[in-house]
Amino acid sequence: MKNKGFTTRLVHADRLLNNPEHGAVHQATNNSVLFEFKEAQGIVDVFQGKQMGHVYGRSSSGSAAALQNILNHLEGGVGAVTFATGMAAITAVMMSLFKAGDHIIVSHFLFGNTRSLAETLESLGIELTFVDVTDVQNVKQACRANTKAVYLETIANPVTQVADLRAIGQYSQENSLLFIVDSTMTPPNVFDAKSVFASLTVSSLTKYMSGHGNVLGGSVVDTGLFDWSTFDNILDIYRGADSTLWGLTQIRKRGLRDMGATLSPEAAHDISIGLETLVLRTDKMNDNAMCLANYLQNHEKVSSVYYPGLAAHPQHYLAREHFSGYGGILSFDLLDGIDPIAFLNALELVICATHLGDTRTLALPVASTIYFETSAEQRVEMGINDNMIRMSIGIEDKGDLVADFEQAFSRF
Ligand SMILES: *Cc1c(COP(=O)(O)O)cnc(C)c1O
Repeated sequence: MKNKGFTTRLVHADRLLNNPEHGAVHQATNNSVLFEFKEAQGIVDVFQGKQMGHVYGRSSSGSAAALQNILNHLEGGVGAVTFATGMAAITAVMMSLFKAGDHIIVSHFLFGNTRSLAETLESLGIELTFVDVTDVQNVKQACRANTKAVYLETIANPVTQVADLRAIGQYSQENSLLFIVDSTMTPPNVFDAKSVFASLTVSSLTKYMSGHGNVLGGSVVDTGLFDWSTFDNILDIYRGADSTLWGLTQIRKRGLRDMGATLSPEAAHDISIGLETLVLRTDKMNDNAMCLANYLQNHEKVSSVYYPGLAAHPQHYLAREHFSGYGGILSFDLLDGIDPIAFLNALELVICATHLGDTRTLALPVASTIYFETSAEQRVEMGINDNMIRMSIGIEDKGDLVADFEQAFSRF
């Protein structure tokens, strides 16, 4: 399996990594919450971590474990934990690893709900500094004696700023900072998190990974690059013989088991089915997005286009270095005077919806929806204009997408 290509490994993963029973090619979905031990010593050994096994559906299931194996394999890590949603994964990581008095350097350009979660963390006494992560210098300047981690997104949504990933990863490694990367926008076929020294990747499996807008999920993968023995927030009971597993063990116990946002067996199965076509979908989306970005860039009724694949994008050089595709998120500002709501109503094929990574092309007005709770000054800081539209490009035939824009623009 090791030297096979990405999709070959992926579509054979259940069969070869998870070894389902009876020659089944897919991992079976089993909804049992409880697990019987014919020998009572077995339940003791599983509780004490001396033997692998499942004891209760909130903590683990065969379906979630199978998906975790696949995700970890694709990332080349030391283990993965899955959650009911991407936000559950992020919350579990933050709440299980940090405490009041810790300092975390956080990207200025964050998914809206993560930004809102950050405010909750601050209210609990965790100190945060928001910085522009497109330049490592800003991270260096924000670092203090109590800094424990850096948290950022690879490509930010909706303005598509690209983080200075390798330089920040290197700086984190040199200073024993945990480097947490939300790689939702850049799944592992597009971005190798280990190449930028990420410690943990978090991802919304709801988006590109599952890909069809029919299931929610989230994950955390430990790349194995961080030395957990330098991280003093690991509780004594989770300091087992192998320190590479300390972080994930604490996330699994304190974050998943205690907080309880468990991925259901059916959802795990749906995600692994969607995952099989990840490369086919993302290649098509990237191609469509590049085509639309070029079209919009040259359109007289558009004032700005934000897409990392464009040579004019301020971090195009970073995107080219770190990713094997420029992603499916593309935003643009309509000329002043064109109402974004009226424009969205004029699009016939493109769906007005707040989701991304779907097979269908989606669009929404940004400032008045996902950033509705954010103050006007903060929106300016984040580069979000009032007439901005965010698109999530799907896998439709690209001529049809361009034609839909043509007919919509012709009405203004
Ligand atoms: C959607 C998203 C999340 C949250 O994921 P859910 O599965 O919706 O909870 C987190 N980070 C990014 C970058 C996202 O796009």
